[in-house]
Amino acid sequence: MQDAAALSIAVIGAGPTAVALLESLIRSRDIIGPDVSLDVTVFDPSPHPWCGHSFAPDRPEALTNTYTNTMSVRHWQPEHAGLWLTANGNAEFAGNKFAPRSIIGQYFKDSAQLAASRLEGFAFIRERVTSLTVIDDRVHLYTQNGGHSFDYAVLSVGRSDKFDPYGLEGQENFCIRSYPLTDALTGVDPDEHIGIIGTGLTAVDLVMALKADKHRGRITLLSRNGLLPAVRPPSFKYELQRFTVKAIEDRAAAKGGVSLEDLVHLVHEELDHACVSPEPLTEEIFPNRYGIDRLRHQLMHIDDDTKAYSILIKTLLVLQDAWYFLNPVDKARAAGFRHIYCSLCCPMPRHRAAGLLGLADAGQLDVVRGVSSMAKDAGGQFVAVAENHPPLHFDRVFSAGSSGNAPDPVAVPLVDSLLQSGQARAHPFGGLDIERTTSRLLDANSRPQPRLYAVGTMTSGAFQVLNGYPVLRLRTGHIAEAMLKHGEESRDRRPTHRAGAVIENA
Ligand SMILES: Cc1cc2nc3c(=O)[nH]c(=O)nc-3n(C[C@H](O)[C@H](O)[C@H](O)COP(=O)(O)OP(=O)(O)OC[C@H]3O[C@@H](n4cnc5c(N)ncnc54)[C@H](O)[C@@H]3O)c2cc1C
Repeated sequence: MQDAAALSIAVIGAGPTAVALLESLIRSRDIIGPDVSLDVTVFDPSPHPWCGHSFAPDRPEALTNTYTNTMSVRHWQPEHAGLWLTANGNAEFAGNKFAPRSIIGQYFKDSAQLAASRLEGFAFIRERVTSLTVIDDRVHLYTQNGGHSFDYAVLSVGRSDKFDPYGLEGQENFCIRSYPLTDALTGVDPDEHIGIIGTGLTAVDLVMALKADKHRGRITLLSRNGLLPAVRPPSFKYELQRFTVKAIEDRAAAKGGVSLEDLVHLVHEELDHACVSPEPLTEEIFPNRYGIDRLRHQLMHIDDDTKAYSILIKTLLVLQDAWYFLNPVDKARAAGFRHIYCSLCCPMPRHRAAGLLGLADAGQLDVVRGVSSMAKDAGGQFVAVAENHPPLHFDRVFSAGSSGNAPDPVAVPLVDSLLQSGQARAHPFGGLDIERTTSRLLDANSRPQPRLYAVGTMTSGAFQVLNGYPVLRLRTGHIAEAMLKHGEESRDRRPTHRAGAVIENA
């Protein structure tokens, strides 16, 4: 470290998570070491800094799927996003409301600028980081244009936005990236029969944009499971009392890990505590309805008692810690339910569900499950094969599926460099392995690296990342705290220096 009370920090990736990280660093500095000056350099080649892949400028149909009151860049001040929306002429989107994601992107940009102005040093470098290494307590980081060195580095890179399960990239009328919707939908003829690979939130955005464009042709959503995002239940004020990080830590400490049964038991305890029956949840977790059928059923029952479902959604914040402690056999078992969990815990707004149902009832939209292949035929049409269906033909196909937790291709050389040097180790369930409470990278010998941290997609195996912003921003709080404390300890370990300085001054 060059100056005893200065920390130089590299942030790799300038998406929404990086904005929360800047805020968390300032907060931890103010609490832990108000005398520390923070010098932050952010690296990202993206044309839309701070928006990441999901909040860049786009059409309004690219909508948040969570209420804007969950999008604050400050984990300790949930109302921050609402205050910005109100102050910037967007009060109608504040609170329990959904907003065009580009507006939230603007909130991220403004917040980043403000946070940067509160740092003692700040630089933004529009370059991709290709490798890094730690030598003698300094992080040496390289981009295509040269090297830089820092006290600490945080990997905040996201996931790949390309999904091409049937190898259609490059085919005419195949769109591999659905965002920005503005680009993806350019040139669509209103009578074309559209196939959309995927039945998640991106597929819903596409359908809503086609609807806004008064598309007349048929639209078919295709996937293996045919599960649309569930319909978001009415908001329910409740704080988890039993399914908590502390309860999971206690179980893990007592038993050396947790099992799926332990977690199910804790969920049941939570529901008992809230005097809520688990029965409606069982029906959702082991579904026997799919596609439009399930959508119709959910819409019909969304005003019945949905407390159990609302409580399940709230478990998302605790789930990363639960996953971390889960034994490997149960992790493999739980992974088989991921699509159901995603459908339930990343639900869509009710008005969108109603819009989809309207299109289905008009005979314009359907959902097909059991899809096994898609290719282009000699006539230039796409042909999909699905269980219990005659071949399905499309004029144009969009990819709207999830690449799972495959890292952004821009980040792959960097990750490889860390693995090759042994400064990180791969997690058996994907991404890089980390220490749970600090998000420090674990090296090849399982030692936490106090100079290297990761958040988001890179931690997918350790945390089974469900990329909700509230989950990510909370982790940035842990990182900032760990970094500031480590900085303080490093200074405390140099007593002779400090004492000498005091004597000189005296
Ligand atoms: C369609 C969609 C809608 C969503 N809607 C919501 C929502 O409503 N609410 C919610 O909570 N969450 C939502 N999410 C989840 C959302 O992705 C996360 O909340 C958030 O965007 C993650 O941000 P991030 O900064 O971690 O990653 P990203 O947004 O992926 O940003 C990572 C950045 O890292 C940069 N990068 C990668 N490699 C390098 C490198 N080697 N060097 C330098 N820079 C690099 C990239 O260029 C990118 O800008 C949505 C996700 C999708 C896909």
